[in-house]
Amino acid sequence: MKKSFLFFFLSPLIVFSQTKEILKVREFRSKSEQALMSEFRSFLSIPNIASDRQNILKNADWIAAYMQSKGISNVQLLHPLTKDQPPAVFGEVKVPGASETIVLYAHYDGQPVDSTKWENGLHPFRPQLTNGSLLKGASMVDWKMATSTFDPEWRIYGRGASDDKAGVFAIINAFVALQASGMTPTVNIKFFFEGEEEAGSTHLHEIFEKNRDLLKGDMWIICDGPVHQSGQKQVVFGVRGDTHLELTVFGPKRPLHSGHYGNWIPNPAMELSRLLASMKNENGEVTIKGFYDDVIPLSSAEKTALAKLPPVDEQLKNELGVRRPERNTSLNEALNLPSLNINGIQSAGVGKQSANVIPTKAIASIDLRLVAGNDWSRQQQKVIDHIASMGFKVVDHEPTDAERMQFDRLCMVKRSDGYNAQKTAMDDPFAQRVVRAVNNALPSPAVMLPTLGGSLPLFIFEQKLKAHPVTIPIANHDNNQHAENENIRIGNLWTGIEMFASIMLLGK
Ligand SMILES: [Zn+2]
Repeated sequence: MKKSFLFFFLSPLIVFSQTKEILKVREFRSKSEQALMSEFRSFLSIPNIASDRQNILKNADWIAAYMQSKGISNVQLLHPLTKDQPPAVFGEVKVPGASETIVLYAHYDGQPVDSTKWENGLHPFRPQLTNGSLLKGASMVDWKMATSTFDPEWRIYGRGASDDKAGVFAIINAFVALQASGMTPTVNIKFFFEGEEEAGSTHLHEIFEKNRDLLKGDMWIICDGPVHQSGQKQVVFGVRGDTHLELTVFGPKRPLHSGHYGNWIPNPAMELSRLLASMKNENGEVTIKGFYDDVIPLSSAEKTALAKLPPVDEQLKNELGVRRPERNTSLNEALNLPSLNINGIQSAGVGKQSANVIPTKAIASIDLRLVAGNDWSRQQQKVIDHIASMGFKVVDHEPTDAERMQFDRLCMVKRSDGYNAQKTAMDDPFAQRVVRAVNNALPSPAVMLPTLGGSLPLFIFEQKLKAHPVTIPIANHDNNQHAENENIRIGNLWTGIEMFASIMLLGK
């Protein structure tokens, strides 16, 4: 009696939260875990650094063959004009009677990697199964031990496991699962997998320009990045832009004995430190003139969405061992402002390499994240103008002898390319349908995020294809993406398949 009473009240909840279509997708997946894992493992074993031409092509060929074997048509490699750069992999599914088209994006290249930094014999391109997060004391699991099903809390360690081969794999297998379960997508689907996202998507605009018609769709949906730190899935309506500067401050032409010359020859590491310190105050506010001027204020829909986000700041402080945030704001407020970060500083050696010298130069890499309203080259210029205002002659080359004798302080600035932030309106009707589809696959609604802190070149999508994408990340937030020990929680991969299958069944 008690049992049926409970069932009466609980079952409608379960039916509401995950549709019967999704339960079918799940059933297919749970029957196919062994095959899926062995395919994912093969995929992760191919090194995927964008500059490694030979291997990057192997990845592209692997994906193309995989898509073909799963019944996806018109599969082809889209090469940029600059022929030796990584191609994107394209494919499509045309659904009889469907009038709308979604384009699904993920990238198959990964961040450059130093395999010596990976822990406990892990190797970026020898995918390793574990029974949880290694940070929480999990241990290695032999692939042979995993027979038919995989615990969703288990993880796979390897470069690209989460960023972003998981995206490629989940998207393709969402379609596979629908097909195998006898379901037809309600929209036409185009697949687009990029091969140089981690190298800055420098040639993406060329691929877009060459294939404008092929890449037309009603909405681009991006699968990249981590889910919300609370563990809830999220739909993201924008990304920050990004650009870089490299600053070199010059000292003497040759390294000098710090005893014979200290106090007399200026030290470039000290000069650079003073310059960098002048860019930000102790409250984390960038003090460069006009740095925040172009920022477009958040819309009221965006402010409402931010207010509804689950609080994670205290959890993160504990997790990261940091007591005081740089700015006196919440994480999400901070992410909606442009930032200035030092990615690295180099001068003479430290530790065993330390010597009593006055170094010849000091170098800093600066990362500028951008929000809506910022223009990447204008933002770079503000930093350069600041350097000049601090008494440095800014040059774009190693200074000549004549320049050394003409100026007290010299700073060489190298500007990288960059891209602006992108935003899609939170009330866009098509985006709202995608949100509903995502929620159909989840036990509780996804979080709506106005902008991701990270950057993706979505500005190029808007500029070249007039597309307004939304991003649906699937990776666990503690995935170590871009660093050593990158990993994906297997449950996140499974939910990713379900979310994208639900999107392929998009409703009105
Ligand atoms: Zn990525």
